[in-house]
Amino acid sequence: MTVTIANSKLSVNDIAKVRGQLLRWYDSYTRDIPWRANEGSIPAPYHIWLSEIMCQQTTVQAVKPYYEKFLQRWPSVHDLANARQEDVMAAWAGLGYYARARNLHKCAKVVAEDLGGVFPATQEQLKKLPGIGDYTAAAIAAIAFNRPATVVDGNVERVVARFFAVEEPLPTVKPKLKALAAQFYNDFTTRPGDLAQSLMDLGAEICIPKAPRCSLCPLQAACQARKQGITKQLPRKIKAKTRPQKYGHIYWITNDQEQVLFHQRPEQGLLGGMLGLPTTDWNEDSTSLTHPEYINIPTPLHIQVQHTFTHFDLKLDLFEATLKAKLPVKDIKLCWLCPMSTGDKLPSVFKKAHKILVSPNKQNLEVAS
Ligand code: SF4
Repeated sequence: MTVTIANSKLSVNDIAKVRGQLLRWYDSYTRDIPWRANEGSIPAPYHIWLSEIMCQQTTVQAVKPYYEKFLQRWPSVHDLANARQEDVMAAWAGLGYYARARNLHKCAKVVAEDLGGVFPATQEQLKKLPGIGDYTAAAIAAIAFNRPATVVDGNVERVVARFFAVEEPLPTVKPKLKALAAQFYNDFTTRPGDLAQSLMDLGAEICIPKAPRCSLCPLQAACQARKQGITKQLPRKIKAKTRPQKYGHIYWITNDQEQVLFHQRPEQGLLGGMLGLPTTDWNEDSTSLTHPEYINIPTPLHIQVQHTFTHFDLKLDLFEATLKAKLPVKDIKLCWLCPMSTGDKLPSVFKKAHKILVSPNKQNLEVAS
């Protein structure tokens, strides 16, 4: 019997051979990942779910300290469900993509309150939970419950594109890469979680983006890109559009008790629900920015913070200001806090500004990025 997918044929024997090569490599190789279960033990679904949500668009290296901090503070899904949302958001600060933190908390509540603290085992049921899409459901089903599932993250896409020498560019080729990867996963009931992790690890450690380490790769003999000498060209990508440049102001507003005014951002939108410093809208036209009506004319510090979001670059000018007699604005959440105990609760863009603004030497700084 032969498997035929879009001109890339693998026989059942070939598939078995690839699986064997991947699993032998996986067994002989240890990657220091705190949520990985020791050989022979079963990983806790809570741990795998937490790590998979954190790893969405974030590197394992960046996730590790957050994962450990969350588990120490909220050792079970019940503990996380009982946490205050603002504490979860503050603990997530700096990890980015903050909708993940809101959904993490919502999902913990559903699992703890509606499902008795037990995560469902199938992809279909997992996908009904907040914040769990196709990829995450497949990863949890395979890794935490040992169910066959086609687990394809960016690392697996790169391995598959090279193994089959797929020339079409990302992101349009994603469905084809998933179909090709499915050849490895389909109906493999013995060790589906380990197979998924072997492909993910291979992409993260060996089949790396710029200079794949093919001489260490268990798939080198059959890899089509290696045979054709095009490993570094693959996977091809459609050229990304240039990110727009946006501008804004940040305000450091103090009172006579040495507190600073902070802003709880609205639930919806960028950095939703996170604590930040008062800011203008962020626009492409810097001349359209106007100071908030609740402050006296602010003093520019001539310091700029630069930050890169996925879809735009941002330059923020810093200002010092004082408040008018009272806050006239009722629809925004403002609060006075001690600035020294607040930095860790801020998302990265505000953390950069905060670091400068609490510095006694800030007048000597010119540009921060
Ligand atoms: S041989 Fe090289 S290009 Fe091919 S899968 Fe292995 S590391 Fe990637």
